[in-house]
Amino acid sequence: MTQTAEAASSAVLARYEPVIGLEVHAQLLTRSKMFCGCSADYTAAAPNDNTCPVCLGLPGVLPVINRQAIEYAVRTALALECEIPSFTKFDRKNYFYPDLPKGYQISQYDLPLSLNGRLRFEVEGEPASCGITRVHLEEDTGTLHHAGDVLQSATSSLVDLNRCGVPLMEIVGEPDLRSAAAAHEYLVRLRQLLVYIGVNDGNLEKGSFRCDANISMRPRGASEYGVKVEIKNMNSFRAVRLALEYELERQVAVLDGGGALTQETRGWVEARRQTVSQRSKEYAHDYRYFPEPDLPPLRLDAEFVDRVRATLPELPAARAMRFADAFEGLVDAGVAAKTAANWLMGDVAALANEHKVPLHASGLGVEGLRRLLALVETGTINAPTAKELLGELYVSGGDAEALVRDRGLAQVSDEAQLAEAIDAAIAANPDAAADFRAGLEKALGRMVGHVMKATGNKAQPQLVNRMLRERLAR
Ligand SMILES: [Zn+2]
Repeated sequence: MTQTAEAASSAVLARYEPVIGLEVHAQLLTRSKMFCGCSADYTAAAPNDNTCPVCLGLPGVLPVINRQAIEYAVRTALALECEIPSFTKFDRKNYFYPDLPKGYQISQYDLPLSLNGRLRFEVEGEPASCGITRVHLEEDTGTLHHAGDVLQSATSSLVDLNRCGVPLMEIVGEPDLRSAAAAHEYLVRLRQLLVYIGVNDGNLEKGSFRCDANISMRPRGASEYGVKVEIKNMNSFRAVRLALEYELERQVAVLDGGGALTQETRGWVEARRQTVSQRSKEYAHDYRYFPEPDLPPLRLDAEFVDRVRATLPELPAARAMRFADAFEGLVDAGVAAKTAANWLMGDVAALANEHKVPLHASGLGVEGLRRLLALVETGTINAPTAKELLGELYVSGGDAEALVRDRGLAQVSDEAQLAEAIDAAIAANPDAAADFRAGLEKALGRMVGHVMKATGNKAQPQLVNRMLRERLAR
């Protein structure tokens, strides 16, 4: 945005508040389709080859529920902090589309498989969250290929039903978002989460992760929602942001001009950078939902839900929170920020991965790490010794100070004690000594290594370095 546009936009936002809710459709990474054995990887086959009587909706066939799809949807719902009711069912959503030959879509209406969740994210460094109304399952449609410009009348359209019946998860967000930037962050975080838990490939361009947005404007301070417009056809994060910003300004212009908005569906046209009206918005009752008679209702018992929950990895937000807690704990206790970050992201993260145990649950704990690092900071032990102890303490726990004392691990920082080892290192490496005297800096490393080895890695490296330089300069 230019500065003038930004100023105009902030003047508008002082008077109006955008109310945004997002609906995401995400294809699940199952091997087969939602209700038949056809491959869910619909892109490999020639047009209409990846089909069978079930996904074509031929008479006399019966669908069978894909168990893996149920597990993935429950996995997603749990990651989004949703409740999982014990009873759920599928419903028919009736409409005519040329890419759905059955004349209805199997979806979920009044008893979805999950409800009342939340997604946490950040907007410009500030914590934010958005309610999740529901996560439910349905089947994808086929695809239409239009010849010519879709804005003009297409000269012909081709139907490919390979995608028909691919498991599709709909994630409906509450209208909790108040800016295009917040909507953008919500989407980025949601996509990251789905990819992270392994249920979706997050490909917006290919359309395996798709987003529709509902947006309305209301005067600041009002509690009622304005007239809602749905935007479709956005196939990048950038498009979502641009479309919302465009629609926000369009709606304000209509309202400021004394006009009225109509509830409608508008499509984002990337080439024009505009939304254009597609159709008046249909209502739920238009679809004549009724329970799918060919499928049994599902009972998801607590044991099943717990088993799915157990397969969830630690989620990015929780892990970030834990890392932040550990970091703050260390810094509050006086550890330098850079030191704390280096240890947490390096050796500690590696141990957490290796043992599948996070720091706070390890033998060491945050407090143990603080005490170990304090020994380094005060010069009692050197970094190599601390690394050795870290691995041991992480698994078995224990008192770092006591171990250092009992095993004599304190670093040698007494010049008199080191003098003998320094002389021995120079005598044992005459070539290195000569190279260093001739100006080759890195030749010093070999002699430092010799001293460290001779002292069981306990010498203070900086001191060894200085003493070697002094001796060799004579
Ligand atoms: Zn099929």
